Amino acid sequence: MPIRVLPPELVNQIAAGEVVERPASVVKELVENAIDAGARTLLIEIEGGGAELVRVSDDGAGIPEAELPLAVAAHATSKVATSDDLAAIHTFGFRGEALASIASVSRFRMQSCARGASSGAEIEVEGGALRGPRPAPARPGTAVEVRTLFFNVPARRKFLKSDAAETGRVTEVVEALALAHPAVSFELRSNGRRLLDLPATAEPAKRTLDVLGAELEPELLEFEERYPEIGGLVVRGFAGKPAIARPSTRAIRIHLNGRPIMDRTVLHAVREAYRGLVDPARTPTVALILEVDPREVDVNVHPAKSEVRFRSQQAVHSAVRKAIERALRAANLVPTFVPDALRGPAEPYTGPRAPLFGSGLQQPAFPRPAGDFSDFAALLGQRAHEPAGASDVGDATARTEPAILGEFPFIQLLSGFVVTEDADGIVIVDQHALHERAMFAAFLDRLGRGALESQRLLVPIVIERSAREIEILGEIAPLLARLGIEARPFGPRSVAVDAVPTLLHSRGADAGAFVGDLLEKAVEHGSLVSLEGALHEIVDMMACKAAVKAGDSLAPAEIRSLLAMRESIERSTACPHGRPTSIRIARAELERRFGRA
Ligand code: ADP
Ligand code: MG
Repeated sequence: MPIRVLPPELVNQIAAGEVVERPASVVKELVENAIDAGARTLLIEIEGGGAELVRVSDDGAGIPEAELPLAVAAHATSKVATSDDLAAIHTFGFRGEALASIASVSRFRMQSCARGASSGAEIEVEGGALRGPRPAPARPGTAVEVRTLFFNVPARRKFLKSDAAETGRVTEVVEALALAHPAVSFELRSNGRRLLDLPATAEPAKRTLDVLGAELEPELLEFEERYPEIGGLVVRGFAGKPAIARPSTRAIRIHLNGRPIMDRTVLHAVREAYRGLVDPARTPTVALILEVDPREVDVNVHPAKSEVRFRSQQAVHSAVRKAIERALRAANLVPTFVPDALRGPAEPYTGPRAPLFGSGLQQPAFPRPAGDFSDFAALLGQRAHEPAGASDVGDATARTEPAILGEFPFIQLLSGFVVTEDADGIVIVDQHALHERAMFAAFLDRLGRGALESQRLLVPIVIERSAREIEILGEIAPLLARLGIEARPFGPRSVAVDAVPTLLHSRGADAGAFVGDLLEKAVEHGSLVSLEGALHEIVDMMACKAAVKAGDSLAPAEIRSLLAMRESIERSTACPHGRPTSIRIARAELERRFGRA
């Protein structure tokens, strides 16, 4: 074929591939245009999941009759005139390609009446052919109708999912935009049925609750933090308690300057804030609203504008993480055992399980003193004298949860659970999970202050490992040194461990198994750099080995010091994997059940 310049309809259709993927993307573009036009009331109607019809009617500024044909021309926009404008975008649109793209793949009609005009006008576009403008009623605002999406691109139409699935996507898009624009009222109807009705409000928090569901209110922690030094960054919203984390990844909603985004950096920061509080397979419920000087961020990196680039990615990442961490820290996160009738049936824990009785590879050479917490108490004591928040690691383990006053009675039951009470009710503690969390915090804290102390063994522990694991020993030498481990190849299939971390040794933990697990991790990660990144995982492996097991019976003093850890340790309500360490039966719930209240 000879080289040819593509005809404009084809250019638009190709561009449509980027902008318009499904009915939800049409809804997004049309609603964004309406908001850009200053609309206060929006009606969104769909039929057949939006594949048959999408109609968005607004009460915004409208378009003068003479400009209607331009609105659907490619690269025609009223929002950007110079490249300076592009540097400080405050509208959704700016590429001027959405309407042209949508009109090229649908039966398109646009009716508008500009503010102050005495009559309206409408145009139609089908398969690239424009008809109009012709007169229309003088209804203020704009209505855009998109029928039989992809009627001329059958491959794309076939690709659409069921009506219900497409309707779900449309609902998500409308909810996302509504969250960011509480002052605009939104109504969504599907085949004539009302799916969403969100009245305008001056209070962003009210809109958030309207969208997330008012019944979740007790589970949501509100936060707001300002960072003038990061381009006037404001970080606010709601962080859901770990108990309402969901399997769906869509539970995290992020807005930047009124624009829903799905930015990887921000998403990562949110997940980091919940690290160890929520099972990694679940997603915390978070509504995060960011405002920043538009000059601090480039939104023009992705056609759907869902990824953005901040001038200082790192600063934004840490601001978001800290804001959410503070909200979580201030809250009482012990899940309630009997849920409120409002909150529906309890969702049983479905994540990974804790090992009940250790790894089964216990080294008989190390008798396990079930509950010698002496090192531990020393560690905690040491920390108490340090200024809080001195370093990142220190910050993560600072004592912040409200202390529970006085001594409460306790009892160890089912050889793994400690039952006690606090001001709010009866608390059941999983002794292994809580101790693991405590060990985790202590090890991490200790590592932040330098290499771990090492205990030389009288007789080396010899473990059988694969050739690759033996080979990697040399590569990870610096990490081993930090952890206080000395190990060397010992024949073609074995490793001799000469020294182990004192913290593990004194806990009677199976240090050989720990070194084995560590080598396995090292091979999995391939390089020391990424292994260092997995330090949390390694410390967790260590904590798990060092912690008391479910089957260990504990002396009263040991139990008391274990329970004390609930208050002295950050994130004590969940073990490092995000499993709960304790569950509470609220006093109020008991009183209700026994007919006392
Ligand atoms: P962009 O939003 O990037 O400018 P679009 O193709 O989405 O490009 O829209 C083209 C132009 O049409 C807009 O710049 C705006 O001037 C006008 N327009 C589109 N929708 C509306 C609306 N609902 N109300 C008023 N003007 C609109
Ligand atoms: Mg637009």
